[in-house]
Amino acid sequence: MIPIQMVDLKGQYKAIKEEINAAVLDCIESAAFINGPQVKSFKNNLERYLGVSSVIPCANGTDALQIALMALGLKPGDEVIVPAFTYVATAEVIGLLGLTPVMVDVDIDTFNTTAELIEAAITDKTRAIVPVHLFGQSVDMEPIIHLCEKQNIFIIEDNAQAIGSDYRFSDGKTQKTGTLGHIGCTSFYPSKNLGAYGDGGAIFTNDTALGKQLHMISSHGQSKRYYHDYIGVNSRLDSIQAAILDIKLSKLDEYIRARQFVAHYYDNNLVNIPAVKTPVCQHNSTHVYHQYTIKVPSDKRNKLQDFLKTKGIPSMIYYPVPLNEQKAFKHITKTNHSKLPVTKALCNTVISLPIHTEMDEEQLEYICKSIMTFFN
Ligand SMILES: *Cc1c(COP(=O)(O)O)cnc(C)c1O
Repeated sequence: MIPIQMVDLKGQYKAIKEEINAAVLDCIESAAFINGPQVKSFKNNLERYLGVSSVIPCANGTDALQIALMALGLKPGDEVIVPAFTYVATAEVIGLLGLTPVMVDVDIDTFNTTAELIEAAITDKTRAIVPVHLFGQSVDMEPIIHLCEKQNIFIIEDNAQAIGSDYRFSDGKTQKTGTLGHIGCTSFYPSKNLGAYGDGGAIFTNDTALGKQLHMISSHGQSKRYYHDYIGVNSRLDSIQAAILDIKLSKLDEYIRARQFVAHYYDNNLVNIPAVKTPVCQHNSTHVYHQYTIKVPSDKRNKLQDFLKTKGIPSMIYYPVPLNEQKAFKHITKTNHSKLPVTKALCNTVISLPIHTEMDEEQLEYICKSIMTFFN
């Protein structure tokens, strides 16, 4: 059996090696390392794939979130609502800009926050919310969109884990996650579903004027060379990464299907273990399974992880600590700490299993059998 990894980037590269090598060499030979034609091509292809009018490539997903917030003209003390059960970057940029992160709980089944939880946290200082499409499926956006329209609140989607996922509205219309709010953000960190060979990120919007402004902020607030209208940042996707991402974008749907195959294998083989709760799919979102995260009793979780390790099976805890309890946030977040019971419980019960595009049935059978052995 091939050794099991959380993500197999080497195996994925092997399958597309010639195409990638040629594109990278091409880029090096042309020496257009910054803003080369590869960046434009990737931007255009991603716009087409997502069905969005503007994609602004940038240096990483954290920058994407920061630039998105910078474009909204918020003042220190303005409140931005985020789930407490997410990666730190989502909330970090809020603190970095002197804004107040207000952390909300998530749904126990989908791991995502909801319109009800957000509504309960809205105050007269709330200016924006950052829903996170965690682990690869969409937040139930329609009620959130209605809520934010009524209250004049910006929506910035953190789509770092769900690129390629489709959300279905009640009228049957489907739309890609990241294009549902005012601004969407994603990361091309190597292990993400659309991963570069280094850092990368992008910002999406359907508002052309906002798209221009986002682009300017990502490029020193520059309207034309050496004319600066805003205080911005320097955040670019380099040409080599864009060339790689352009090739991988053409395979994204295939990669998503490979992940779904793995997830369905786990679903079918773990469903009969009473102590294991397999992930719940929402009826109105496709799941692109950035992570396959199960829940087990809290007194068994770490023991299961140790046991799997002895079997040569890696696993990860996403995430072990609620963000509102992190040292960095304790004093800046306006959160009633006792009010996030689901986040707290999830931090003690979740465990993410290996999932990637190169997994085979032999590995999957071995992992499922090992989990069964542990619970027997
Ligand atoms: C990966 C990730 C980010 C940050 O992306 P980087 O490219 O590493 O800066 C932000 N939010 C979520 C939910 C992520 O998973």
